[in-house]
Amino acid sequence: MKKNDSLAIHGGKPVRDTYLPYGKQWINNDDIEAVIDVLKSNYITTGSTINRFEKSVSEYVGAKYSVAFSSGTAALHAACFAAGIETGDEVITTPMTFAATSNSVLYCGGKPVFVDIDPQTYLISPEQVANHINAKTKAIITVDYTGGPADYNEIMKLAKEHDLIVIDDAAHALGSTYKGEKIGAISDMTMFSFHPVKHITTGEGGVITTNNKAYYDKLILFRNHGITRDPRLLSLSHGPWYYEMQTLGYNYRMTDIQAALGLSQLNRLDAFLLKRKTIANEYTKAFQSIKSVRVPMNLGDRESSWHLYVLRLDLTKLRVDRGTIYLALTEENIGVNVHYIPVYYHPYYRKLGYQKGLCPNAEKLYETIITLPLFPSMSQRDVDDVISAVQKVLGYYEV
Ligand SMILES: *Cc1c(COP(=O)(O)O)cnc(C)c1O
Repeated sequence: MKKNDSLAIHGGKPVRDTYLPYGKQWINNDDIEAVIDVLKSNYITTGSTINRFEKSVSEYVGAKYSVAFSSGTAALHAACFAAGIETGDEVITTPMTFAATSNSVLYCGGKPVFVDIDPQTYLISPEQVANHINAKTKAIITVDYTGGPADYNEIMKLAKEHDLIVIDDAAHALGSTYKGEKIGAISDMTMFSFHPVKHITTGEGGVITTNNKAYYDKLILFRNHGITRDPRLLSLSHGPWYYEMQTLGYNYRMTDIQAALGLSQLNRLDAFLLKRKTIANEYTKAFQSIKSVRVPMNLGDRESSWHLYVLRLDLTKLRVDRGTIYLALTEENIGVNVHYIPVYYHPYYRKLGYQKGLCPNAEKLYETIITLPLFPSMSQRDVDDVISAVQKVLGYYEV
């Protein structure tokens, strides 16, 4: 390959003049008004807007309880605490995720056990989960990668047999359904993130949804320094001012300012989801006939909320590697990305003793994937530009 081979295809003009990011929030005037209302009110944190937001999230996903947090990562940490993860406990999870998933296990002193993905769906393999359960296993953290729900029938069955707690990292899956049922109350605890690239945003923020009152109480405690004023939970009382710190918690609270934004965004969630699905379908229609790529698998009775659109390259049909394709798309001003570097590749995890070769399917997937821009405020022009750029670049490099 000549040094500037990738630039050669754009000898002329790139497909776009301006850079298109891979993901982005969509804030409208209603959102702004809702935030202003809270800013003018008496409570900008620990007020009633949090409760209203939590209730709306519960209703949307069909769970009994929701606890909002300052981030999705804080929410995962709290879920691991509520699950009772402690030093010596093993927690089975997938490496095809953001580091926060397994970091939450480390925060509690537990040991993440990475198991491989199914090479077709890219989701955690129930067979691999089964193979790694032992006396130390305490929990499973599934990840609904790109929005596609994991195999919950199999995973919940394994969890029941072995008395394990299932936490769903559903940062990608707000609005996804598994056999007709919304993600949010299938596992023991489900985490959603409200980072700006996710389905709805609160700036930073996250939530745990659950049907379990005992987990709910622990999540509430953990979010607020381990402190409670709940008369049901106090060990004694000195008077009406009395509160108790019962465990080492954190300040992981979401503000009412954020909750107001979240509540307003929730009103448009279904429209956001529809737009994401429409764009994903357009991509699939345009790309399924290109011989050097594989489009995302249709998951049948599992409906994705399409957080990400991941194209898999067939490197045997290309004369360059993924890096060159990635760079070429960037030069077309298309904001591509790679989700994810297998978590245990990171230096911190390598120092903990994890080694390359642990999950061959995830490692192979990592070499071949590119995430394309996908967010609800994309215009038809933006979508057409992504399609043109992919066709142009792959057409150039196909053998
Ligand atoms: C976004 C994300 C998180 C973390 O959420 P934050 O709100 O950014 O802390 C965790 N897991 C996955 C898979 C994510 O995509």
